[in-house]
Amino acid sequence: MPITSEDTLRWVQQLANVLHENREYLTQLDSAIGDADHGINMDRGFKAVSDKLPGVANMDIGSILKTVGTTLVSTVGGASGPLYGTAFLRAGMATSGKHELYEADVIMMLEAALEGVKVRGKAQLGEKTMVDALTPALNAAKGAEKQNLGLSEMLKRASSAAETGMKATIPMLATKGRASYLGERSIGHQDPGATSSWLILKTLADVCA
Ligand code: ADP
Ligand code: MG
Repeated sequence: MPITSEDTLRWVQQLANVLHENREYLTQLDSAIGDADHGINMDRGFKAVSDKLPGVANMDIGSILKTVGTTLVSTVGGASGPLYGTAFLRAGMATSGKHELYEADVIMMLEAALEGVKVRGKAQLGEKTMVDALTPALNAAKGAEKQNLGLSEMLKRASSAAETGMKATIPMLATKGRASYLGERSIGHQDPGATSSWLILKTLADVCA
């Protein structure tokens, strides 16, 4: 079964709930290596997104995701607003006009989102950012597609690879964003953005399970 526009709306709405529930957790992670606002930023952004959802109820998946992107850009200050804004905008462009997503569409969507973050943030793998959760997720999705495992298993594997990638940020030295100001002191802490990236993909997998 493909991902439908209704699934996409449920994903985004559920994500707003999940980020609200994880507001303190994400902020606490950001207080160790940043400025203690990541949970506040994500919660504020997705609250605004959730308010916009009734307006996109009958639209294609690309339009829904583009609305998420523009809303995040305009409501979230800090690095994560423009970064996730770009990710959702690019994901929306990759799914433009579609009312159903199959395995190959999901891979194009994830690829476009990751590319957006990398270009916008000038970030590469191993710099202790959201890229470190999104990259293994994309690779896991590609692997699942090759093995013909089906969409829900693909999303489950992507989510679990993102979780592994998130945990792998703990020993990393941050070289991008605020955490990089700490130098060696950034080592030993889990990256907040990699954590929210995992939550985004986990919620998608849960909604499509
Ligand atoms: P800010 O750092 O401006 O306070 P947030 O706290 O909301 O913004 O988001 C911090 C997260 O953003 C980091 O944990 C990291 O994952 C991500 N991030 C920061 N800078 C970059 C970058 N240049 N490229 C990719 N991700 C980044
Ligand atoms: Mg911050």
